[in-house]
Amino acid sequence: MSTETFEFQVEARQLLQLMIHSVYSNKDVFLRELVSNASDALDKLRLAALRDDTLDADVSDPHIEIEIDAAARTLTVRDNGIGMSYDEVGRLIGTIANSGTAKFAQELREAQEEAGAEGLIGQFGVGFYSGFMVADEMTLLTRRAGESQGTRWSSRGEGTYTLARVDDAPQGTTVTLHLKPADADDQLHDYTADRTIRGIVKRYSDFITWPIRLVPKAVDGATADTTDGDGEADTAAEPETLNSMKALWARSRDEVSDDEYHELYKHISHDWREPLETVRLQAEGTFEYQALLFLPSHAPHDLYNQNYQRGVQLYVKRVFIMDDCEALLPSYLRFVKGVVDAADLSLNVSREILQQDRHIKMMQRRLTKKVVSTVKDMMTAAPDRYATFWREFGAVLKEGLLTDSDNRDTLLAVSSFASTHSADEPTTLKSYAERMKDGQDAVYYLTGESRQSIENSPHMEAFRAKGIEVLLLTDPVDEVWVDAVGEFDGKPLRSVAKGEVDLGGEDGEKADGEREKQGEEYAGLLGWMKEQLGEDVKEVRLSSRLTVSPACIVSDAHDLTPALENMYRAMGQEVPRAPRILELNPDHLLVKGLNQAYTEREDRAGLAETAELLHGLAVLAEGGRPKEPGRFVKLVADQLERAL
Ligand code: ADP
Repeated sequence: MSTETFEFQVEARQLLQLMIHSVYSNKDVFLRELVSNASDALDKLRLAALRDDTLDADVSDPHIEIEIDAAARTLTVRDNGIGMSYDEVGRLIGTIANSGTAKFAQELREAQEEAGAEGLIGQFGVGFYSGFMVADEMTLLTRRAGESQGTRWSSRGEGTYTLARVDDAPQGTTVTLHLKPADADDQLHDYTADRTIRGIVKRYSDFITWPIRLVPKAVDGATADTTDGDGEADTAAEPETLNSMKALWARSRDEVSDDEYHELYKHISHDWREPLETVRLQAEGTFEYQALLFLPSHAPHDLYNQNYQRGVQLYVKRVFIMDDCEALLPSYLRFVKGVVDAADLSLNVSREILQQDRHIKMMQRRLTKKVVSTVKDMMTAAPDRYATFWREFGAVLKEGLLTDSDNRDTLLAVSSFASTHSADEPTTLKSYAERMKDGQDAVYYLTGESRQSIENSPHMEAFRAKGIEVLLLTDPVDEVWVDAVGEFDGKPLRSVAKGEVDLGGEDGEKADGEREKQGEEYAGLLGWMKEQLGEDVKEVRLSSRLTVSPACIVSDAHDLTPALENMYRAMGQEVPRAPRILELNPDHLLVKGLNQAYTEREDRAGLAETAELLHGLAVLAEGGRPKEPGRFVKLVADQLERAL
């Protein structure tokens, strides 16, 4: 059969370089990765056979085999699972699955420059390729269940790999590692020793639900274990099953170590890092199920992708049914990984049926409550871990404030926000409420693109001057949930950029009388400006929120914010541009001067330009853009010229 040579995709090549030069300190994990792939392949075969009873496949004894040949320095991991077709091998093994993104490629380049590669490998996990940490050559022989021809893939991990079609491949996949030369000082990592392999399997793969067998090498009836010098071959050697196969979720908490839980997490999430938290739930009664869920410690980079594969694995009585079962958790918990094992579902259950099923809905409700309450417990029991969690997943969790009214109160309680109270410590709403000033009747917030842009907004001026705390909300979802939620603990959530502000009668507060007087003084100017600006503004009024800036734009209490308008437009929805309110600072010299000129002059043509400029400045200050930027720039330039 002819052998063809192919080049690895660029990212794959870079990654292989990292693997070959072994930047990852814990090389043992290569075996976990190969066993994990083999276990997935057995799951897939079982399902395929269940769905298609004409499938010509052997499903009589699904298992994984590990074989050591110390003399040849090879280690073989074999499964009789689903296997791969010729095309699949090229597609799945020649490229980096899940990771062929621009972000990955970029991080890879940076990592190579900065030698930060270990973290990168941990972050992306690299499955099959991790074999090159310990091997200088890998071959893979595979035949897809139901097909007659097999495929041999082989590579030294450098630039290329070869593919050949073969006639006599067994069903499933055999991966052979040609181990790098032995390191005499490193007995612990001697992968040709039975005890090393035993230890690694026990440590990383004990929970795998298929048997993992260590098979004695069949050379003239002798075994790797028994060539102990007496020349006598031990023909009775049996394969030894290395793993207990006990489903971790079915065992009681005190029987299972944290490490064991964490290895299961790594197997199902393809994440090489430790999870942040493990959540267990055992439901008894008419609809019995067990759940073992994990909160990861890092948000995956594709969490906001439309096609992000969300959901946990579904098992029915220890039998794997599907990955990414999205019916089990709401979308705002899409980062949760884990296993749910239900006792009373049909093995043939489909995604469509699950979406409708009453029991599944109840299960979703209960699991959701459990996850949210786990986060709540973390706040007090492990504040550092909670802080990590919130940094990574807070923005996603807040989607639940909109969509999950059942858990809204708990979600509000576990949410934290950047605030003017502290430059780096986020605050909860409860702590905010405790700090509220006497007479303050609302929780104030401002939404915007970044902390800095919000802090520099003119809307913040009076709040800063009075020392009133404002929440600084910068996630896109913040624009939406604040309106939907409306209040916390009886106190309305109020944007500092919306409606009238009345900061109460504190010291330094302008006397009502003075305000009234100013109102009369400016009445003419305000009316005239409204005429000048026409449709662009709904109203021109005096402001009580400005101390430094001459003018700002505000919305009516129930209007959409400009950011929200933009979001709707980005989603393809028609939204009319709502005219906004222009507020002037009556204590600002520019505004005072304008008023004086307005009352004294007959010819107001020059003043009209100033009015337009003031409006443009206010629009700019809130991060918008003047209606006609070119004209605005010309007006500014003209005015500057006159001032020279
Ligand atoms: P990952 O397992 O993270 O997807 P890998 O590089 O380990 O990445 O594997 C890539 C893909 O190759 C797997 O998703 C699977 O489709 C296929 N594959 C790997 N090993 C096997 C195997 N033993 N049997 C069948 N398919 C496999």
